[in-house]
Amino acid sequence: MSHIDRAILEPNDVEQLIADRRDFHRHPELKYAEERTAGIVAQRVESLGYEVRTGVGRSGVSALLKPASAAGPTLLYRADMDGLPIQEENNVEYRSVIDGVMHACGHDAHTAIGLAVAKQMASRRESLRGNLKFAFQPAEEGGNGAEAMINDGVLDNPTVAAAIGLHIWNNLNVGVVGVYAGPLMAAADEFEVVIHGRGGHGAMPQQTVDPIVTAAYVITALQTIVSRNIAPLDAAVVTVGKITAGEAFNIIPDTARLSGTVRTFNDEIYREIPVMVERVIKGTTEAFGATYSLDYRRFTPPVVNNSAMCDLVAAAAAEVVGVQNVIRDESVRTMSSEDMSYFLNRVPGCFFFLGSRNIERGLDHAHHSPLFDIDESAMEIGVNIMTRVIESYFDNQ
Ligand SMILES: [Zn+2]
Ligand SMILES: [Zn+2]
Repeated sequence: MSHIDRAILEPNDVEQLIADRRDFHRHPELKYAEERTAGIVAQRVESLGYEVRTGVGRSGVSALLKPASAAGPTLLYRADMDGLPIQEENNVEYRSVIDGVMHACGHDAHTAIGLAVAKQMASRRESLRGNLKFAFQPAEEGGNGAEAMINDGVLDNPTVAAAIGLHIWNNLNVGVVGVYAGPLMAAADEFEVVIHGRGGHGAMPQQTVDPIVTAAYVITALQTIVSRNIAPLDAAVVTVGKITAGEAFNIIPDTARLSGTVRTFNDEIYREIPVMVERVIKGTTEAFGATYSLDYRRFTPPVVNNSAMCDLVAAAAAEVVGVQNVIRDESVRTMSSEDMSYFLNRVPGCFFFLGSRNIERGLDHAHHSPLFDIDESAMEIGVNIMTRVIESYFDNQ
């Protein structure tokens, strides 16, 4: 690859990297069922001299590489392993052999890159000035596997001081890297509200409290949170994605149910928005004489990057792809969510996007599409960057 400067991988390492990714791609596993993947990962890192724990956060693997001599801080490298409940539509030699399950987000590549970095670092153990701990994580897709691994002690013994991770990213061309200091990805909350009215005949609304009309106003009023309560230069999304009420065209039902998602970036809005949502629901239902019950659930907090760690990653990325190919502005941000946030809430770190789109080759489908695929040369770039990040992290201690 012409855009890789100072390549560190031997040709057989590159072959292995691609073979690993294709093997994981052929055999995707759903959240908390990553047994085959975790088994391969555990066996591989063990053979490289890592101290391995399996079953961390149910199906996760942690792997610790201690420095040959002097002790130092512990850096966590996170790679997620799970696939998605999607039927693959790509006609490629490495197409998924599991019906209805597919690596449609790139976690196959994350696992393969993680293994390649683990090998690079094992061969550099003499120069390692602290502990390197890998978290091969289960259940990123809607399972909060990061939280499960933390609850199982992945940040302890030795205590982790900082964390890094990457996401293969089809929103950026291969050879481009996105590094953003601050809030990178949104928090995803989930809410369900039941509006309790009083049912009756559709022709005699005066005898009822109509939960459908109330729900219509609630939906409209919820949209004013973003347009009227959030500062125009801040970002938030309130989406009602589901509404159910009624059985017949001429009967006013007793209840209406709405559910939706709330996405936020910034910590202050993240803290305040559940209160805003409830205030709107409470006030609107009261105005119509209805009552409500609200179940507001936090799902994944925002991914917030530490700026010093991002500087480290951006410098390493610039060495590999050139400074002009490292994007550091707000265009990198996205309202999608990622459970890397659990690690970044505990320790300073950087989660960044590794461009994998290749429009000429038709490798430009969105994440979670049944046609999702990547330009695999992105993976070598990822290994190069991550190896440099780890080395410079320990050099700076
Ligand atoms: Zn995904
Ligand atoms: Zn993902």
